[in-house]
Amino acid sequence: MRVTPQRAHTWRVLTESEEHLTAEEVWERARDTLPGLELSTVYRSLEALRAVGLVADSRLPEGPRVFEARPALHPHLVCKSCGEISHPDPEAGHQLFEALNAGSNDFEVHELHVVAEGICARCARR
Ligand SMILES: [Zn+2]
Ligand SMILES: [Zn+2]
Repeated sequence: MRVTPQRAHTWRVLTESEEHLTAEEVWERARDTLPGLELSTVYRSLEALRAVGLVADSRLPEGPRVFEARPALHPHLVCKSCGEISHPDPEAGHQLFEALNAGSNDFEVHELHVVAEGICARCARR
């Protein structure tokens, strides 16, 4: 991947936040450092980072597409009560991906978004 200032900065915004950000949110944060940066450039940077596996994109329930500096296929646990998103064993996503592709499904899985909804320990105690 060619490293452009836009890509490097998009990557930095994601690693520094450690959150799940929409492309618009990445853009808002990146604009502080790179004035004149366009949203379409952020989209292209995110796509380039995603293509090399540095960034994962996910579709969380009832939410927009979000990006984060973590490998693809990692599962998400979403608390129905407080909305907190946590990451269980990332291997679980890989195992599911391989299981789905290995079966006699006559189907080739390219993308997998694993989102489990439930209640977090903090909310359960309340
Ligand atoms: Zn995540
Ligand atoms: Zn919760």
